[in-house]
Amino acid sequence: MRFAIDIDSTLHPYWDQLAEIAKRRYGVDLPYDTQSTWAIDALAPEQLKAVVDETHSPEHVLTAEPYPGAVEAIARWHEQGHFIHITSHRALETHGQTAEWLEQIGLPHDELYCSYDKITRCVELQIDVLIDDSPDNLRRAVEVGITAATLEHPWNRDLPDVISAPDWPTLAHRLESCLK
Ligand SMILES: [Mg+2]
Repeated sequence: MRFAIDIDSTLHPYWDQLAEIAKRRYGVDLPYDTQSTWAIDALAPEQLKAVVDETHSPEHVLTAEPYPGAVEAIARWHEQGHFIHITSHRALETHGQTAEWLEQIGLPHDELYCSYDKITRCVELQIDVLIDDSPDNLRRAVEVGITAATLEHPWNRDLPDVISAPDWPTLAHRLESCLK
C-alpha cells in the first residue's frame, strides 16, 4: 500500500499555532470549534499569509507535538513495507526544518514533499491512500480514485466517501480494516 500523509492538522494540532500567531500579530481570535469551512475570513489575505509563513518557521515547526498514536501507526505501516510519502502545503524553503522535525519525532518515511500541488504528486507516485484534513484535497483524491481519510475537524465533517475518525488510533484501525 502507498500512503500520502499531510502534516498540518493531520500529524499535529496545527490550529493551536495558527490561532496563537493570529492573536499575537493581529489581535484576531480564530476559535477552532466554530471553524466550519476551510476559509479564514477574519484575516486579510496578506495577514493570513504572514501567519501561515510564521507557523512554518523553524521555531514553530520544530516545537510541534504530534497527535498521540500518529507516529506509532505510521511507523507500523512503514515497518510492514508500505510506502510513506509525507506531503505538506508549504514552501520548498521549509523542507530543511520539516525534515528535521520528522527526524526528531522519529517518523519513518520514504519521501518528503513540500509544495502546493499534492494531488498531482500523489497521482505520479500511484498513491493508494491520502490522509489529509483539507476538504479540497480529500474531494480531489476521491475524484482520481485515491482512498481519502482524515482526522475529524470542524471544517471537514460530513464529506462523502471519506474515512474519518476523531483520533489517530481509531483512524489507523478504520483504515486497516477497510484496506484488507
Ligand atoms: Mg493539513
